[in-house]
Amino acid sequence: MPEIIESCPLCGSSENSLFNRSTVQHLLVVNRICDHCGLVFQSPRMTQGETDEFYKREYRRMNQGGQEKPLAKENEIQRQRATALRKIVVMQVAEVIRHLEIGCSAGYLLKAVQEQYGCTSVGIEPGNAFRDHAVQQGFKVYPSLEALQENKEERFDLISMSHVLEHITDPVAYLSELRRSWLTLNGWLFLEVPNLYGHFSFEVAHLYSFSSHSLEQIIQKAGFRMVQLVKHGQPRSRTLPLYLNILARPESIVSPSFSVIPEKHIWVKRFIFYTLRGLAYKIYYRLNYLLKRIKNLLRRR
Ligand SMILES: [Zn+2]
Repeated sequence: MPEIIESCPLCGSSENSLFNRSTVQHLLVVNRICDHCGLVFQSPRMTQGETDEFYKREYRRMNQGGQEKPLAKENEIQRQRATALRKIVVMQVAEVIRHLEIGCSAGYLLKAVQEQYGCTSVGIEPGNAFRDHAVQQGFKVYPSLEALQENKEERFDLISMSHVLEHITDPVAYLSELRRSWLTLNGWLFLEVPNLYGHFSFEVAHLYSFSSHSLEQIIQKAGFRMVQLVKHGQPRSRTLPLYLNILARPESIVSPSFSVIPEKHIWVKRFIFYTLRGLAYKIYYRLNYLLKRIKNLLRRR
């Protein structure tokens, strides 16, 4: 049975409104917005058990045309994404000794960071086919955080999560646990998520749709301070701000009473960015179509 989210996972308010209702790959996806802080979250959504089962089997299949094995096209996107992310990490991070990537897929970012820093690289990947692929590349990859603990791995000074946080049922609790148990005191947290103001974002597996504001509130509540925020579209677009990147460090003292700063005008911002994006695509395709017609006409003459 789907789970109804009664209170906002960020501020705790029980007041929320319908934000978006879409049918994605034949599934109804309903997102609500917290009336107090503006966090956008999916409700109803899959339960934790259903989510675990979904990741073991269905997710990769849905996103790779029915195949669970890593496809060449998907691999190429991951390789390009890893190159883009490496450039962002290097802007702030001078040294990495131990890198953990949660949701490492086929291991492209593990490889890119290892090439950059010569560090020890460890991954977590619940999908069997992707984990096997990353292991074949020579990386130590576990199926879960629990397996990391069972194997007595030490702390890491860089923990990265690319397109993972939006899938996690309780992101504040998850990031807090990473800070308490897995990140060194002076370490770095590196996140990439789809941008609510630039990316369609609403999928059955996306439990949250973050803006830069709500993402920063989430990491602050989990005891981190933001060092750098980057909006970009690589590897899919050179111009659209499809993704949000955050580099953050753990706070030395974490206040138990964090008060969330609400975000305003989310509907308007989403409408403006999403409409502009739609217009940009339409203009691009129309121009391409017109150019082809003109070229064909010129050839006939
Ligand atoms: Zn809220």
